[in-house]
Amino acid sequence: MKDKLELSIALWKYAKEWVYSASYDEALSDLYRYVIPTHDRLGIPGHVEVVSGHIGIIRNIGASSFNGMKHMDKDELLDIMSRGWGVGCHSWSHGMVMENPERELLQAKEELERVIGRRVTIYTSPGSNRNLTSEVIGKAKEYGYIAGMSITDDLNYSDAEDLFWINRPPLHEKFSDLYDSAFDPYKRIHQAKKYNGWIVDYLHCPLEKAVHDYKDCSAEHHKERLETIVEEGKYDCWFANPDDVVDYRYMRKHTEIEKCPENRGKFKIRIKGLPEQVMCRELTFILKSVYTPEAITVTVDDKTANTYPLGGACLCFTVPVKDGSEIAIQTR
Ligand SMILES: [Zn+2]
Repeated sequence: MKDKLELSIALWKYAKEWVYSASYDEALSDLYRYVIPTHDRLGIPGHVEVVSGHIGIIRNIGASSFNGMKHMDKDELLDIMSRGWGVGCHSWSHGMVMENPERELLQAKEELERVIGRRVTIYTSPGSNRNLTSEVIGKAKEYGYIAGMSITDDLNYSDAEDLFWINRPPLHEKFSDLYDSAFDPYKRIHQAKKYNGWIVDYLHCPLEKAVHDYKDCSAEHHKERLETIVEEGKYDCWFANPDDVVDYRYMRKHTEIEKCPENRGKFKIRIKGLPEQVMCRELTFILKSVYTPEAITVTVDDKTANTYPLGGACLCFTVPVKDGSEIAIQTR
């Protein structure tokens, strides 16, 4: 009977079908006014993109529409991290990165890591995609980043190889260019469901009125968007901090499951070539079998795992694993 056990790695953590994240460029303190309370109420973590040379100071960058507003300081960054939020590096000065890549990418990352006391793995292109050329990506890799965020209005597909071009649809009030467009609370949700994709909304700091119509929506629309995500995502969406999604993608890519020929209820985990920067080393496994979930006990490295029925003769469990980990399936 035990050869009827099939173990696989879930596409997304917790065996969810699609993923939602929200990112806030510039990491402004005014996120505390509307954005953070909405995230807290709905249980969705966010992600801030920090201009490392401006931590805790009033914004005064070129002709930025956000000049005069304060960037989050150390205590605020630590506070949002304690709420489950993630932190990315949005360069040192928000200028052209290749004018001084060592300062804009490396020094910026090191300073941010020093301030928050934790590793930073995502670089978020400032200004436009002109700061995400292949030269910039090459430098970002050299300096230890494992992912890059663009400003491209698209979904992220589950099988996309390139984590240095994470797409981010802007959640704007209205946008006028070759074509005009307006706020849509359902933006890309059905596409994410159909293709098992990952939405990363691109925002700055929604307030009573958007500071800039094409860089933000209003706080009211922001609330509507997040409520729509929860309503549409219910039990099928992983509401995720992008740092964790990046880690999960690397874990899934570099892990293989080996069946033990001498014991059919035993599997060995092989992890090869995983970047050492990956912080969260958990994976969700799906076990398909002929047994009911109640009849199965799963142990991972001799510890009993919590399993959850998935339907369709499947159950899932989420556990930390390392190269050589052993998963044993016992049936009553
Ligand atoms: Zn920016």
